[in-house]
Amino acid sequence: VARSNASGLAVFDAELRSRTLAETERRDALAQAVDAGRIVTVLQPLVDARTLSVVGVEVLARWHSGDRLVGPAEWLDVAEDTGLIVPLGADVLRQARAASERWRVDVAVNVSARQLDLPDFAERLEEAWGDDRWDMLTIEVTESALLFDAAHVRDTLETLAARGVRISIDDFGTGYNSLARLGQLPLHELKIDKSFVDEVTTVEGAAVVRAIVGLAEAHGLDVVAEGVERPAQLAALVALGVPTVQGYMFGRPRRDISDVVDGRARPRR
Ligand code: C2E
Ligand code: CA
Ligand code: CA
Ligand code: CA
Repeated sequence: VARSNASGLAVFDAELRSRTLAETERRDALAQAVDAGRIVTVLQPLVDARTLSVVGVEVLARWHSGDRLVGPAEWLDVAEDTGLIVPLGADVLRQARAASERWRVDVAVNVSARQLDLPDFAERLEEAWGDDRWDMLTIEVTESALLFDAAHVRDTLETLAARGVRISIDDFGTGYNSLARLGQLPLHELKIDKSFVDEVTTVEGAAVVRAIVGLAEAHGLDVVAEGVERPAQLAALVALGVPTVQGYMFGRPRRDISDVVDGRARPRR
């Protein structure tokens, strides 16, 4: 049955309206979840590549919905678009602090560009984390976050670094080329993205990781490789001098890490 233009438009219009409604519902549902404390955190160990002892944990947010723990792939964009990432991020920081005390372990927390860009981010961080034990905290920021208002980002990072917070560049190598700014920011760590770890057992992939390790060394930065799944990848990373690794091979993100944490703090520069 051939449709007229008019009815075709009507169908399109109805579709658009229901999609918009679905979007609104998604936003409302996330807002309620944040409000009701249904954003929870899971912890994934960071381990010494040679001894395999736990040197810290990354804190990862989950939406506790029904009996599911829903990962950020399904809601992080909504959280960022709506600004809900701000209260959500504060909640994650409070939980990170609690986990750090409970297991006496260093914690790494992801911080969005949207959070780092707030004029009072340093104060908000202190409100959520507390005003002590800064040296147990690493914040992971992506390269793209560093491209926002450059002066503000530098001031904020300097304030945090002066307190003793470690600053890690997440997904390093995947974002904008911020190499020129590496020396101008108070950074402590480069986190090699999983996409490079996936390739590290090839000649070309090893060359990329070697280049990142060299860059880190030149700037006096620690290096972590994320997304390590196989022993061959670990062996390649160790051979290239990567000191710290993270990935399913050593543990998936979990609520309870009492069996893996030994309470040892991470060696620091
Ligand atoms: P990310 O910071 O790069 O975190 C690593 C992601 O890889 C996590 O996914 C982790 O569960 C997953 N992963 C770890 N090891 C392996 C592995 O061996 N193999 C594979 N295939 N995956 C591995 P997750 O938890 O779904 O988080 C996705 C992203 O969402 C994170 O990527 C981070 O950018 C963001 N995110 C997570 N929690 C927060 C948060 O509290 N605040 C903010 N702003 N972003 C968050
Ligand atoms: Ca991260
Ligand atoms: Ca990462
Ligand atoms: Ca990543």
